[in-house]
Amino acid sequence: MEDILHIQDLTVKFDGFKAVDHVNTAVRQGEIHFFIGPNGAGKTTLLDAICGRVKPAVGHIIFNGSVDLTNYAEDQIVNIGIGRKFQVPSVFAGLTVYDNMELAAVKKRSLTASIFHKATQEQVELIDHILHTIGLDEKRGQLSAALSHGEKQWLEIGMLLAQQPRLMLLDEPVAGMGRRETEKTGELLKNIAVDCTVVVVEHDMQFVRDYATKVTVLHEGAILDEGSVYDVQNNPKVIDVYLGR
Ligand code: ADP
Repeated sequence: MEDILHIQDLTVKFDGFKAVDHVNTAVRQGEIHFFIGPNGAGKTTLLDAICGRVKPAVGHIIFNGSVDLTNYAEDQIVNIGIGRKFQVPSVFAGLTVYDNMELAAVKKRSLTASIFHKATQEQVELIDHILHTIGLDEKRGQLSAALSHGEKQWLEIGMLLAQQPRLMLLDEPVAGMGRRETEKTGELLKNIAVDCTVVVVEHDMQFVRDYATKVTVLHEGAILDEGSVYDVQNNPKVIDVYLGR
């Protein structure tokens, strides 16, 4: 499989402080690639740089072999095919599951679309397919406010899928979930990764062990180690700064 993302010499500064410090890494297509490390390591800032929320001081982020994401604004990066989910679910509580999905599907190519169009037949079929994938087919008529925490997270992942991204960035998707919901989320990510590469920032090490195909460990903005779960969790430096705590 080829690389979908090349991060080259990436440095992000806040008032001179390097939150991300000369990071070089690659994300391979079809992987579930986890970024782990202590609080303040720069994980969220890295996701923010990929999706265009923050601009790097130095470096490039090459998507799909040739598109340098650092040249684009956040809404353009959505259109390029990169979806970002934040930690707190942001579904519309007063709308049904289906209506949330429809909203996400029709606004697909415009973050600023103010006119709400009905979904086309093709979009309806896509929504049906995604509702099945995220396990909310039978709850399509329910108000989102009535969903459990886990179901809200899956709905939000479904709303990202409705925009048909090639790469999905998830910030602590299983935070606040019980074991069963966490496992369901892992199986969902495996399913998604067949078509859409998944990058995850995560603290739940059991989840990382169970579902990572690659792990990058960040510490003080820089890469401490990278490789398989087995490799990084046996690295004494990683144990010292993160896993042993
Ligand atoms: P992580 O996600 O690994 O916990 P973050 O990327 O959130 O780490 O933060 C990395 C460092 O950058 C931290 O020291 C944090 O305080 C700092 N930081 C993050 N965002 C900002 C910001 N908007 N302004 C100033 N400092 C920030």
